[in-house]
Amino acid sequence: MPTIVESAASLELTGIELAFGNNKVLRGVDLAVPAGSTACVIGPSGSGKSTLLRATNRLLEPAAGDIRLGGESVLKSNPDELRRRIGMVFQHFNLFPHKTVLENITLPLRKIKGLTKEGAADAALVQLELVGLKEKASARPGNLSGGQQQRVAIARALAMKPEVMLFDEATSALDPELVKGVLGLMADLAGAGMTMVVVTHEMGFAQQVADQVAFMDRGVVVEAGAPEKLFSAAESPRLRQFLSQVL
Ligand code: ADP
Ligand code: MG
Repeated sequence: MPTIVESAASLELTGIELAFGNNKVLRGVDLAVPAGSTACVIGPSGSGKSTLLRATNRLLEPAAGDIRLGGESVLKSNPDELRRRIGMVFQHFNLFPHKTVLENITLPLRKIKGLTKEGAADAALVQLELVGLKEKASARPGNLSGGQQQRVAIARALAMKPEVMLFDEATSALDPELVKGVLGLMADLAGAGMTMVVVTHEMGFAQQVADQVAFMDRGVVVEAGAPEKLFSAAESPRLRQFLSQVL
């Protein structure tokens, strides 16, 4: 178990719409993720998966729809406060290269949570130990493998004690031999009761870890359901075609 999940909350997205100019990228997305469960989002490139995650923690503002965390709408809350409650892990880690591993984790704890230097360092070391990287605390990200860097990014997000974790193709940039370790950490986190939305091309992970799989195409969730159902008895022709290409 990589962490003690203290406060996982439910996440409900309803009717989320978002456009870039004339390009309507999200056209009414609905997704309900019960507290402590994992939803995997699959779908072709350009279908709006990354945009959906970014709208969920309001790196992008949805034009319509609602986002509820623990049953309460968060569209009017402070975006910084929301990002403390919803952690996000990106494909390319997004670590500060000139800071140490420890500083990468303590920085948001101090800036956003207002922890003291000592308090932040203590919390960061606890998370680093849980992802198996305590001995790398004073290393620079560039001296770590991609898999280790992604573990640091996950530790950084978890140190904020989020209620939901979003993963956007967290293993797509990793060398194949490093993928398993990061997916294992994510599976442990799911097992520990975190609420997670995982955009992934790893169909094995979706089959084994997801409580539900949502297939996105052209800005909507076309079909969602339990992985056993979705992977073996897809209803939508678009999903059947997608699965025939990736499985
Ligand atoms: P996915 O993650 O499923 O591959 P994205 O959410 O990244 O899809 O992109 C969906 C669509 O939104 C694409 O047509 C993409 O070109 C467009 N898009 C994404 N981000 C931006 C942006 N910052 N500005 C303009 N268009 C964007
Ligand atoms: Mg994407």
